[in-house]
Amino acid sequence: MPPLRRVALIGLGLIAGSMALAMRRDGLASEITGHARSPDTRAVALEVELVDSVHETAAEAVAGADLVVLAVPVGAMAAIAQEIGPHLAPGCIVTDVGSVKQAVIDAVAPHLPAGVHFIPGHPLAGTEHSGPRAGFATLFRNRWCILTPPEVADPQAVARLRALWESMGANVDLMDAPHHDLVLAVTSHAPHLIAYTMVGVADDLRRVTDSEVIKYSAAGFRDFTRIAASDPTMWRDVFLANKAATLEILGRFTEELFALQRAIRREDGDHLHAYFTRTRAIRRGIIEAGQDVDTPDFGRSGVRDEGGAA
Ligand code: NAP
Repeated sequence: MPPLRRVALIGLGLIAGSMALAMRRDGLASEITGHARSPDTRAVALEVELVDSVHETAAEAVAGADLVVLAVPVGAMAAIAQEIGPHLAPGCIVTDVGSVKQAVIDAVAPHLPAGVHFIPGHPLAGTEHSGPRAGFATLFRNRWCILTPPEVADPQAVARLRALWESMGANVDLMDAPHHDLVLAVTSHAPHLIAYTMVGVADDLRRVTDSEVIKYSAAGFRDFTRIAASDPTMWRDVFLANKAATLEILGRFTEELFALQRAIRREDGDHLHAYFTRTRAIRRGIIEAGQDVDTPDFGRSGVRDEGGAA
């Protein structure tokens, strides 16, 4: 497939930056333009050569682009779509990388003119770092990217976007937006909320001093803190935008938690053992699917941690 002529990245943080570096590494785009809200971010994006040019407005950045990627927090998508709508070239593909899909479709689609192809997407790859210096070209390697095209989507536009993600190292799956939101509520959104809660509880628990929490964190707490360090704006938007699915999963989580609480109180070791045996098998499945490494301590020593997708 020939390289894209001009790609416009709206938002220049972890995800857009990683896309830019991957596209540059493999010559997937002849030109990359960019826009971010703050002059600082725009300056850094130029300095670290994520993009060929930065623009003060999103409308200027998308002019003449054959692919536009919306890589801003979910809550910012509607205003951006409204701004760029009149400036999109006919035939251009608009995609996004938002962690929630139905809310983004509702926010963006009404602002796009006929003749523009809107193919929503979500790469399941990320770290707890954000901003224009956080990206790296291998972020998407062997990670999944889910596309949620509408039924009427142009197959050629879907194929082109799929090919781009595959060229950046990702495996691509298609599904409908509500299903995506439920799957992600289970695999990402509820776990993030639980991590935020666990770290918040430890912070409140004055009987354990701060220094003890930090000193003995390798006993499990440390893994929660990494997730709980994720960007507050992005995650606020994720929960507000995926409210129904997240609440459904949290309801189930609370029921399971009560069941485990009761098992501990009743000293029902068989229940606990059977439960933990089942959860261990899920971990094995993740490793067999190549989505994590089997080395002790999550392969921390010497391996760059690329987990924590939203
Ligand atoms: P990030 O590193 O925090 O970058 C966000 C970018 O959006 C920044 O360049 C920011 O500009 C810009 N921005 C924010 N509000 C804006 C506005 N109103 N107008 C214009 N630009 C604005 O975020 P990220 O991690 O790349 O996340 C971007 C999207 O990817 C989100 O929708 C998120 O849900 C999704 N996602 C994230 C992950 C993850 O793990 N991080 C994984 C998959 C998908 P300034 O710096 O100037 O504020």
